[in-house]
Amino acid sequence: MASAATIANSSTAKTHMAEAPMTEEDVCAHVRDSVLERRLAPGTKLTEESLCSIFGVGRTTVRRAFLLLKRDNIVDLHRNRGAVVASPTPAEARDVFESRRMIEHALLQQAASTIAPASITALEDHLEQERTALTAGDVGRWIRLTGDFHLHLARLAGNRVMLEFLKQLVFQTSLIVALYGPSNNGSNCSGGDHAKIVAAMRDGDLSSAQDILDSHLREIEAQLEFNKPEKQNDLVSAFAPMRSA
Ligand SMILES: [Zn+2]
Repeated sequence: MASAATIANSSTAKTHMAEAPMTEEDVCAHVRDSVLERRLAPGTKLTEESLCSIFGVGRTTVRRAFLLLKRDNIVDLHRNRGAVVASPTPAEARDVFESRRMIEHALLQQAASTIAPASITALEDHLEQERTALTAGDVGRWIRLTGDFHLHLARLAGNRVMLEFLKQLVFQTSLIVALYGPSNNGSNCSGGDHAKIVAAMRDGDLSSAQDILDSHLREIEAQLEFNKPEKQNDLVSAFAPMRSA
């Protein structure tokens, strides 16, 4: 699904591709990116043996990586079962969307009070990157960019604590959409809505920007189906683009 170039560009960890050994942060970044780009499904079991073999690292590195992944709510750790990619329940999914609507509404207000023309230009550049990835058929990169759009807006608000919280929520959204989202729609987001939000910000129309953002998030939530069978995939194919990079 994702090209080798996407993987090569998708994380600082990729700079270590040709150099051994990888650190626990590298392994953590690879797993996180693979989940974000939908190569690794929620509920997938990650065994120490497979990750040691795929990444060419020792058990200690993998165990430390599991702890980092657990800290960021990317995996759940089970006694005797190793790590499993987190699978939010329908109730948790509702909570994530409710939290996002509240937080992003507030962040947008904060951002609008100080936004500079250069920031609007940067947002427009981001929209262009989304379109380019989509046109190129680079689905993994496109999915990541649509999530990053929300973080870009949040950065403009200048509140680091809320930004870190939103990062977690955007990641959880990715898991939720992978689990419960419509199978014909790869992204969390409609790029058209993003463009409308930027246009409203450019016009200084905060209330419209907030309304569009609110309905954008509600629309994604409304498309979730909570009775889908669980998806799993095998680790070697999930990390295959990275290994061939
Ligand atoms: Zn969006």
